[in-house]
Amino acid sequence: MKGNNTTLTHKPETTEKPEDFRFLLEQFADLKILRYQVPGFSSLTLRQKSFIYYLSQAALSGRDIIYDQNYRYNLAIRRTLEHIVLNYKGDRNTPDYEAFMVYVKRVWFSNGIHHHHSKDKFFPAISRATFLKFIEESGREGLPLKPGQSPEDFCSEIAEIIFNPDIAPKGVCQDQVKDLLTHSSVNFYEGLTEKEALDYYRKMDKEASNEDSSSRISFGLNSKLVKSNGRISEIPYRIGGLYSEAIEQIIYWLGKAADYAENGLQQKTIETLISYYQTGDLKTWDATNVMWVNNHETEVDFINGFIENYSDPLGLKATWESLVSYKDMEASKRSGIISANAQWFEDHSPVDPRFRKKEVRGVSAQAINAAQLGGDCYPSSPIGINLPNADWIRKQHGSKSVTIENITLAHEKAALGNGMLEEFAFDEEEIQLAKKYGSLAGSLHTDLHECLGHGSGQLMPGTKGDELKNYGSPLEEARADLFALYYIADPKMTELQLFDTEDVFRAAYNAYIRNGLITQLTRIGPGNNIEQAHMRSRQLIAAWCYDKGREFNVIEFRKKGNKTFVKINSYAGLRALFGELLAEIQRIKSTGDYEAGRDLIENYGVKVNPELHREVLERFSALNIAPYGGFINPVFVPVMQENEITDVIPEYPDSFTVQMLQYSDRYSFLPDYN
Ligand code: ZN
Repeated sequence: MKGNNTTLTHKPETTEKPEDFRFLLEQFADLKILRYQVPGFSSLTLRQKSFIYYLSQAALSGRDIIYDQNYRYNLAIRRTLEHIVLNYKGDRNTPDYEAFMVYVKRVWFSNGIHHHHSKDKFFPAISRATFLKFIEESGREGLPLKPGQSPEDFCSEIAEIIFNPDIAPKGVCQDQVKDLLTHSSVNFYEGLTEKEALDYYRKMDKEASNEDSSSRISFGLNSKLVKSNGRISEIPYRIGGLYSEAIEQIIYWLGKAADYAENGLQQKTIETLISYYQTGDLKTWDATNVMWVNNHETEVDFINGFIENYSDPLGLKATWESLVSYKDMEASKRSGIISANAQWFEDHSPVDPRFRKKEVRGVSAQAINAAQLGGDCYPSSPIGINLPNADWIRKQHGSKSVTIENITLAHEKAALGNGMLEEFAFDEEEIQLAKKYGSLAGSLHTDLHECLGHGSGQLMPGTKGDELKNYGSPLEEARADLFALYYIADPKMTELQLFDTEDVFRAAYNAYIRNGLITQLTRIGPGNNIEQAHMRSRQLIAAWCYDKGREFNVIEFRKKGNKTFVKINSYAGLRALFGELLAEIQRIKSTGDYEAGRDLIENYGVKVNPELHREVLERFSALNIAPYGGFINPVFVPVMQENEITDVIPEYPDSFTVQMLQYSDRYSFLPDYN
């Protein structure tokens, strides 16, 4: 977009000492903006630094895609908002303008007008008239009009979309009694019902499985499905297809990066990925993933593609994301120990032996540092990933798991002393345990969840892996969490010298149950249910264990004054319950038992106790903490001599607004409407 560039020049802090690093930059609505450091970057080789630089450019080049995937008007809305931010001639020091800026920043944070977590539409806290006045006083030149549209018509249309609560109320609908597609605003399907879309892909799947069932293609992963004039057709994301303009840029930077790959396999992976982006061919995507998962040798790694399907109510289509990373040598030792013992964990898991993997292959665990976040990983970033997602590749080649150390650390540093623990922990002992061992317990939980949990278990013959439909994601997260919870209390942990006191797993259990039953309620708006997969899984686990352990008082709700707390009375009892639920969820996954999976989630993972919820929100609001954190990226500045990069210097910008405007200025390649 064109705009007044003077607001974009901003000098990052260069005088900051590492110990003074400011992790928390600002808070607004229910969000906080953090920064992460790139420790050890300066000791990477010039080749690695250059590689990271080019991969980072590719990571930023797809930013527009996620906006359009989330909702087809998001790009036009973002550009309208930025038009005002850059050109508004009126007084910016008014409550209305400040409220407007909060809305703009929320849109940036969520990559659209639906909350990144709850998927509910959110609204500016100003009137429609004020909004229209802001556009008026910013000039009409540069507004994202549709072809032939007058500025007047555009303004009333865009205001209607932003302000009318009945238009696109939900990003992703999970409500089983409704048609999931017609009630979701994500831009994956157009003109189809849930049934039509499912039938379309079932048919495709059936035909393909007659040919070859050993390498099941993820049909629908990288396309939009459209029905018009009674005909259903797929528009693939590729060169010449949907999002072509952004994909060209991604390819350009990947091409540059390929020359700096750390080994031949990695170079081939990038070339294959480029070919996938050119053709949209899902077999090429699978080939990319097979190469990617088999590369364990390089220090620098990346993901870049249409990968996670959380935003599709049918769990078929993937959002675009990228993460560029390099190994954290110290922390990798810890997860290396865990993955080296993967087979032992699998063999001793409390699930039915039929559902255990006979041979756990290629479980690779790494602790990495993020160097750049892009697409659906930005600004809200995962703290660990486990990929690829295709079950057949995981079975034949294993999966690669990472915990993202510097992101986790930034979350911890930013949360230190915010009062949350003191408010919700049962007693001083629990607080001390958390302070002393919380960080290690958290890292180990993530290692076990990502390195072993997701990769464990096997499907029975005849089970395809998509039977659990929209319950698949929360059940899968629950399975991985339970695997971690069960094993973090295993004597094997001390045998492997991962820690030497039971206080570590007690800290882990306290934190999990406290979060699952109480503190994560702070992320839910009053009167709402739980929608997000990880949150559903946490409440499912905590509430199920509370319920099943009632007779023996394993977990207890306790009142102190009018405040509610949870207390674990039997850690051994709780561990046994974790094992029991793990066995059941593994059975559900292995056999594709949709009804049992649905019942678990609906009975334990969705509804919240309104009274407790109210209390928790009240206590939380008194602390003034934003529940969700997201990140701005470091900027990698290449030092050039003639046409050669001679060094790459990371800089740490300190303004969310500036970074967003810069990204929109430099990395916005898609048309307003796609
Ligand atoms: Zn997970």
